[in-house]
Amino acid sequence: MPDLFRHADLRATLRSITDGVASAAGFRLSAVSVFRNSDELEFLVVSGDEDAQAELGGDVTPREIVDQWLEESERWGGLCFLPHEKTLRLADHVWVGEETTVDHPHAWQPYDMLFAPLLDRDEQLQGILWVDLPLDGLRPGPDKRRSIEIYARQASEAILVAIERSRLAEQVRLAAAARRVVRDATAQLDLDRLLEATVAAAREGFGVDDARVLLDNAEEVESLDELSALARSLAHGCWARQRTLVVSPQRTAPGLLTPAEHAALLAGLEEKGDTSLLLVPLGAGTECLGRMLMFRHDRADWSDEEADAALDMGHDLGRAVLNARSFAREQHAAAYTQQLIATMAHELQNPLAAARGYASILEDVLDELGVQDADARRSLRGLERASGRLVDIVTDLLALARATEETDPTQCPPVDLVGLVGDSVEMVSVQAAPREISVTLDVPAHPLPVRGEPGDLERVASNLVGNAVKYSPDGAAVRVTLTEEPDGPAGPHVVLAVADDGIGISAADQERLFEEFFRSEAPEAVQQPGTGLGLAIVKRVVDRHRGTITVSSAPGEGSTFTVRLPRADA
Ligand code: ADP
Repeated sequence: MPDLFRHADLRATLRSITDGVASAAGFRLSAVSVFRNSDELEFLVVSGDEDAQAELGGDVTPREIVDQWLEESERWGGLCFLPHEKTLRLADHVWVGEETTVDHPHAWQPYDMLFAPLLDRDEQLQGILWVDLPLDGLRPGPDKRRSIEIYARQASEAILVAIERSRLAEQVRLAAAARRVVRDATAQLDLDRLLEATVAAAREGFGVDDARVLLDNAEEVESLDELSALARSLAHGCWARQRTLVVSPQRTAPGLLTPAEHAALLAGLEEKGDTSLLLVPLGAGTECLGRMLMFRHDRADWSDEEADAALDMGHDLGRAVLNARSFAREQHAAAYTQQLIATMAHELQNPLAAARGYASILEDVLDELGVQDADARRSLRGLERASGRLVDIVTDLLALARATEETDPTQCPPVDLVGLVGDSVEMVSVQAAPREISVTLDVPAHPLPVRGEPGDLERVASNLVGNAVKYSPDGAAVRVTLTEEPDGPAGPHVVLAVADDGIGISAADQERLFEEFFRSEAPEAVQQPGTGLGLAIVKRVVDRHRGTITVSSAPGEGSTFTVRLPRADA
């Protein structure tokens, strides 16, 4: 329910009306109370008497009492009068001014109540306009009643219009808020979460009691019960006409809904304890993809603004559903490709090992036979080189497949990166020694734990250090450091930096560095053996460990790769 009580403009408008009523009708006090929710009447504005203002502001009356007032009051045309004697019994909910009554047979009594019920077009009670404390101290006689009634009628209309306008403004504001939430949710590619976000937005933004989103293909048409099948076909009809449908006792939709269907839907609503329903079709282009159903327990009023905003939501959601579906398809295809690659790599291992075995047997045979033929020896070396390279590719492909697995490495126990990086550096140093490349390691004296798979993390370190050595000239220096970032925006992190003074990487190459099979075409880089898979594996491992990797480099000036991983709480 829109909260009218927050609208300062509405209060100001109503106050000017009540001020006018009080002075025109000859009363010292005039007030308006409205239903904040369906069962509580609350004062919205009080003009005139200051004591009354202080006392009545925020005063709440239950609906039963209001009904009782209406029932027991005398009708003076459009006015209701509850005399002192009757009102005494309802004293808890009546304001009593500290006025001395005048000495007159028709004197106004402290508990007298005079009010005009504010009825909307559907004859629903929206609130009450009050007057109290007559200036002449008397209960109004027939002539005065007539003039008060005229003022009250004019004021009532103005009040109802003002309330209606505020209510609409509030509804539009809420509906717009709901749309914003759906727009944000549009970025959500997970279909279930998208639908969840939409339902939450509809509940909050439209103030509905219940909301549901149903997508067409999520159910078998044949298995739908009668009402759901009707709702489905209505949604399609609505989408074709680009409209929504209100189902409530007051409204019919000729052309869209037969009287029998209307009755069936109303019965369905009643069974659920709802009064009304807004049916919103979801779609994109000419295709209707499903429907959103918004229910209200005890209100049947759906403004045109709400219907328009809801239809817009139907468009936004339709697009979001298509996005989410095509994303799911792509993911499925990508997963299939990964699986295929992993299987192929796995299957290639045995024949490759056999080929390498035969090559080495062939070498032994040539030795035994004393064959010195240069062509035969060159062919053999070529065979060994080619199969060696194939082994590297298969090994990297298997590592890549592993790094893409769905398991969450951050659930693993903590491992100490200081020890792990130390081992990797030692291993690579052995290969670097013949080229007189020094690899220095700078680490703190205490452990730096991160959660993850030790094998994968070791691959990150040895790949980066290995590359630094591979792409540096003989005699160069490679520096490996491990530090701690205790107050990063995303919590404490451990930082691994691998710096070299090697050939460097151009800005264009840096953009593609982490793609599978990417190898720089720079002449100094091409000379080095490699599969172009190393950094792709590194990147995936780092991503899976919820870390980041960055590179800073310039051709001829060396490169620094920096990996940040969340520090495990020690
Ligand atoms: P490769 O097996 O080719 O080394 P990577 O994925 O490890 O594959 O690296 C991709 C490319 O990035 C390399 O081919 C090389 O051009 C470039 N590269 C990687 N590390 C460095 C580095 N430290 N210095 C210069 N270039 C590098």
